Amino acid sequence: MTNELPVDLPVTEDEWRVRLTPAEFRVLRQAGTEPAWTGEYVDTKTPGLYRCRACGAELFSSDTKFDSHCGWPSFDEALPGSIRYIEDRSHGMLRTEVRCARCDSHLGHRFDGERFTAKNARYCINSISMTLEPAE
Ligand SMILES: [Zn+2]
Repeated sequence: MTNELPVDLPVTEDEWRVRLTPAEFRVLRQAGTEPAWTGEYVDTKTPGLYRCRACGAELFSSDTKFDSHCGWPSFDEALPGSIRYIEDRSHGMLRTEVRCARCDSHLGHRFDGERFTAKNARYCINSISMTLEPAE
């Protein structure tokens, strides 16, 4: 699978609304956040590849997933070129919003300098923004 833009990728938000469930739409297209500890991948250890649930682009390898105990799946590295970063000043904080580089859907936030791992980054990602493709 390449990261070429598929021809059937929705263009308008109305098209996205039809394709996604209401809960997926609220997070992926309206930058919502699923409640902590409720996502299906919080504690998942299954080896595999995490793809964007909206467009299928490859985002994270399970090799970079770690236990941050923050309530959301956490990774210390994204696959090269998979992420678009946006400055987010909502809720009185300066954060880095993380979006899918291919379809611009919201995934979560990136935090730096917390020293959870040697890479010193935490991608805090909504489970509902991803689909795990288990390794063979
Ligand atoms: Zn995507």
